[in-house]
Amino acid sequence: MGLAASYAGRLGLTAWRRKSTLLGLAAGLVLLVLCLQYNTASRSDSAVKPEDGIQEPTSGKDDKSPLQRTLRNHQEGRNSDTLGKVSNDLQLPRVPDPEGGGNLLEDNADDLKRSIGGENVKFVQAEGKEAVVTSSHETVPGKHQFPSKARIPMEQPAREDVAARKASVEQLDVDVQRAVVEVSTSGPQSVMQYNSYDQQGLYQMGIPYVNLDPRKPYVPEQRLVHFDLKGAPPKVSYLKRLFPLIRELGATGVLLEWEDMFPFTGPLSSIAAGNAYSRRDVEEILTAARGSELEVIPLVQTFGHVEFALKHPEFSGLREVPESPQALCPSLNASMDFVEKMIEQVMELHQGARFLHIGCDEVFQMGECRRCRSQMRETLFLSHVARVASFVRSRYGAVTPIIWDDMLRHLSPQSLDEFHMGELVEPMVWVYAEDVYRFVPTMVWEKFASVFPYVWTASAFKGAFGETLYIPNVKRHLENNLRWLEVMSAEGPKFKGGIRGLAITGWQRYDHFAVLCELLPAAVPSLAINLLATSHGYFNQSLKSKLHSSLGCSRPGSPSSSSSYSRSEAIVNLNSDPYLWDKFGRCFFPGSPFFKLTYRLHAAEIEVKEFLESVTKSKGWMTDYNIRRKFSSPLRVDELMGEHPRVYHTLTSLARSARDALDDVFDSFTITEWVEQRIYPDIQKLEQLQHDSLALKSVRIWPKRPLPPLRDLKRLGAPMPEDDTSDTIPVSQLSGK
Ligand SMILES: [Zn+2]
Repeated sequence: MGLAASYAGRLGLTAWRRKSTLLGLAAGLVLLVLCLQYNTASRSDSAVKPEDGIQEPTSGKDDKSPLQRTLRNHQEGRNSDTLGKVSNDLQLPRVPDPEGGGNLLEDNADDLKRSIGGENVKFVQAEGKEAVVTSSHETVPGKHQFPSKARIPMEQPAREDVAARKASVEQLDVDVQRAVVEVSTSGPQSVMQYNSYDQQGLYQMGIPYVNLDPRKPYVPEQRLVHFDLKGAPPKVSYLKRLFPLIRELGATGVLLEWEDMFPFTGPLSSIAAGNAYSRRDVEEILTAARGSELEVIPLVQTFGHVEFALKHPEFSGLREVPESPQALCPSLNASMDFVEKMIEQVMELHQGARFLHIGCDEVFQMGECRRCRSQMRETLFLSHVARVASFVRSRYGAVTPIIWDDMLRHLSPQSLDEFHMGELVEPMVWVYAEDVYRFVPTMVWEKFASVFPYVWTASAFKGAFGETLYIPNVKRHLENNLRWLEVMSAEGPKFKGGIRGLAITGWQRYDHFAVLCELLPAAVPSLAINLLATSHGYFNQSLKSKLHSSLGCSRPGSPSSSSSYSRSEAIVNLNSDPYLWDKFGRCFFPGSPFFKLTYRLHAAEIEVKEFLESVTKSKGWMTDYNIRRKFSSPLRVDELMGEHPRVYHTLTSLARSARDALDDVFDSFTITEWVEQRIYPDIQKLEQLQHDSLALKSVRIWPKRPLPPLRDLKRLGAPMPEDDTSDTIPVSQLSGK
């Protein structure tokens, strides 16, 4: 979901460049030198690599195709464009905020962060636990406002400034400490008062500062939780436990993306996965949702992201591009027949639904087949959406179709009007990165408001910052959600009907073919925090007792009700504990055993990585060379493998614990998929190492040096002896790899 964001971003960048060229160029050049100086000095900090599976974004500059751009975008909060790289790489000079909204405390806080290197690197976990190192510099797609909002990105200060401000920063540090005491000992009412101390308290707790006024909080009318069910169905019993919890935390509805988990029948029966829900399961899930007073909105993909259907031979003829099942060809009548059948089957089980989400995001392949080639892409897109939406409206009079907005962002209002988009669909504007305006700038909001009476928005609580993550970074997701509140309160009034509500998405896979990202139970604390924030319009200390009691942190008699959860403790510490392992590791909520297990996994992955690195890279007796040549010291091999049994046991017991922890959440297919994807590769590496060590130790007589050259190196230009057959050794005769 990022193609349109790229285009919109580029447009905005161009406009901004024009405006600022004259004014900014001279001052920019001078200050750039200072900034580069500072950056050189700070690079050693910011270059620290993420250690826990958080991926660094790749450079966008060489991405040619929309697909390449989108794949990269997925690594940057599933929203990005080249502007992000510009903001990050080119640290612009500080200019007074033209809106006058600049906040001294916020600036000071930034100074403090910079002075301790906190902007780029966060070290987590005291008490002898392994350090979690994340680098927000590399993973945050862009913390800056979109230029069209006339906000100037904040910069890194020149090195001299850091020294000059040191004294005032130290004073601020003292103030912040005092502020925390103030915040934590004062009652909820005083925290609500949003004075300067509160901002500092929020800062200290790692709660992102967003310009929200808790005295007039903006609360979206509907707060939907998105359940992405594709290829990994949570057990019905688990969903039944989760629904009342999300209702209690402020959800008003659920957006159910069934994909291949829906019990499609008849001509569509091959689409349903082998472990799809049964009809009765679906009915039970819907009854449970309604029982918790949650409105249900089903989601059916009807254009792009139909891999789950077009991968099958029965539907391969509907592909826009024969070799890819990503998108339907909109010019085939059979495509529309197929879409109608899907909608009919889904709607049959969703009687009484007021809305139907028809997807339509990230249609990567359009206008490529023989039939479509002669038409404009936007005509192809809009006419297909109009056809599907008209079908929904004519067939189910009271049902309003919703579509993802990304394909609309770069279209003109005239085109949207021409195809009656305003009367047919309601767009759901999705941005999962922190800076919403960078992807959907004001001009896009204004365009949407001129076309659509109603709009929806979508944030994320998991599944947005890396395809292979196993635990969400709550600080980033909370910032995304809080910034959405800010954007919604500003943009909502522009729409005749206003904003319907916010869907908090929780992606399970990045697409049908991708592996599992964060599993639902690992993200329940993130969901809880983001639901509380969006249903109150702010997030601060006053929500602590509600959060902790909802997540089962304060059961009478449990260890968590002891002094460690005393009233004075901060609600969260997202700077030191962005995954909330410290804060909620002792709580009891649906899926909490798995949430706790992710911390063990985190520690185990670090341990295995360090062990393998040490044994096969740092030390000199079990490298690939030693193993290939069966040439090593048995004594040293024994020594190196000393830790092997312990590390191996850590992983195998983790795999068993995962099975137990997930047993009441997922079916066996999902559990085994996760173990195979997450733990098994390391187990295999350790077993191979064990095998290699035995081979090395089985040697009793060793050859004299020089060892014969490896014949394969010939193709790399390595010099070979004149008479090469007798003295060289083919790879096939060597042990190991
Ligand atoms: Zn086509």
